[in-house]
Amino acid sequence: MPSLTPEGGPELKFHNIIDGKLRTANEHHRVIDPRTEEPLWDVPVASSQELDDAVEAARRAFKTWKKSTVAERQAKISEVARCVNDNKELLSEILMKETGKSKLMAGIEVERTVVHFEYYTGVALEDELQYEDEKTTILATHVPIGVLGAISPWNFPLILSSIKVVSALATGNCVIIKPSPFTPYSLLKFCELAQSVLPPGVFQALNGGADLGERMTLHPGIDHISFTGTIAVGRRIMENCAKTFKKVILELAGNDAAIVCEDVDLSKVVPMVAAGALMHAGQVCVASKRVYVHEAIYDRFLDLLVEEVKKYAGDVDPTVPNAAGPISNKANYERVLSIIEDCKRNNHKIVTGGEVQSDKKGFWVAPTIVSNPPEDSLLVKEEQFGPIMPLLTWRDEDDVIARANSLDNAGLGASVWTPDAARAQRIARQLEAGSVWINQPELPHQGSYFGGWKLSGFSGELGKRGLLNYSNTQSLLIAK
Ligand code: NAD
Repeated sequence: MPSLTPEGGPELKFHNIIDGKLRTANEHHRVIDPRTEEPLWDVPVASSQELDDAVEAARRAFKTWKKSTVAERQAKISEVARCVNDNKELLSEILMKETGKSKLMAGIEVERTVVHFEYYTGVALEDELQYEDEKTTILATHVPIGVLGAISPWNFPLILSSIKVVSALATGNCVIIKPSPFTPYSLLKFCELAQSVLPPGVFQALNGGADLGERMTLHPGIDHISFTGTIAVGRRIMENCAKTFKKVILELAGNDAAIVCEDVDLSKVVPMVAAGALMHAGQVCVASKRVYVHEAIYDRFLDLLVEEVKKYAGDVDPTVPNAAGPISNKANYERVLSIIEDCKRNNHKIVTGGEVQSDKKGFWVAPTIVSNPPEDSLLVKEEQFGPIMPLLTWRDEDDVIARANSLDNAGLGASVWTPDAARAQRIARQLEAGSVWINQPELPHQGSYFGGWKLSGFSGELGKRGLLNYSNTQSLLIAK
């Protein structure tokens, strides 16, 4: 394995991947390691010409790839899964560096990537009989759309990109993916490795920022866009895609409510709610971002939570088991600090955390619990995307459901905690969110369709249902 340290040794190299080849570029940048604030490796920035070259290669490859059978594509997907698995040490070390994740968390992300690829070796869209009578048979068949432009965020760079890549491959599309410029390394390396098993032009990767993303959404040679990121950028992407009538999938921000009922077993539920809120320092789209606890158990829940969140204190050494990492980049670090500042300015009750760890290098924020901030406070209304938990009380079921549903940015996910199965489903079915987890932290599952409602998204992906959004449906009306 080449040296992982940017200084000395046979340094790891990163390239844009176009038409099956490694391409160097005139322009480069370096990401800052969020643990140490030291620069990582050089990474190329793709030019307009390189985007044009990638689109041309993808269109060429699509002519053949679209005719491949489901079995042929699934065989390739299986080979890609094996390729990721064979390189899991390398990929998780890179992920750890670029995101600040612990070794354990980075390893899980690589393993989950393999699981997602393997899942789609056994799942495909079949033709469906839509209608039949004595005169006619009507079938629905699902055909690839063409060239997908995929644009991904920095919090789970490998898995979130992989979902788009494997969905495109499974449905016979070609894909050009742009990682976040904050975390380009693992995805570029993954794409490079996958070239050994895929035909040239089928899966390509270009690194760049908002300007490259804009060019992708406006490019006439790209047929559809799958984007994961903020609501503001999602809106911009939708506007751009309208100009060429591209199909678009938007996986956007969440502000998940966790509703904890008075009949839960606190010793089991407190650790799971903490995990749902603080995993990856809260930088998870479906993290619990507003925790509503029934007033009858609020004080006991809070006491136990204060103890529990100590486990999420960060550690500079990523190999310490379960050590939480820092905030992944300076921009998000400053945003998270500004939310803590707002809590202090408005005298919200910070029960634990809230201090800025300016004595050590890296973007560290201690796990922070804020007790009963007002419903219209910045912390409750906005997605914090950091390790700050607002803990709120409730008494009346209809009222807590109304509060959970009151925000437009809260359409991605939610969780409900009660051993009463009927009550759990009664609450869950009234929540205005694309996925609701019952008695478990919010972890997307490869077999579960995932898409945000309201401002949290448009369309969706994952599961068998998700493949429909990567396909055109054609009706075949056959006279008998
Ligand atoms: P972001 O919107 O800032 O950036 C996402 C990607 O879009 C990056 O690759 C960026 O370079 C690119 N981009 C920026 N401006 C663009 C433009 N004008 N046109 C095209 N591309 C452009 O988001 P982020 O900060 O990287 O990610 C964090 C956000 O993502 C959070 O809000 C989080 O909730 C959300 N997220 C959602 C999901 C989900 O599945 N719903 C998953 C993870 C993260």
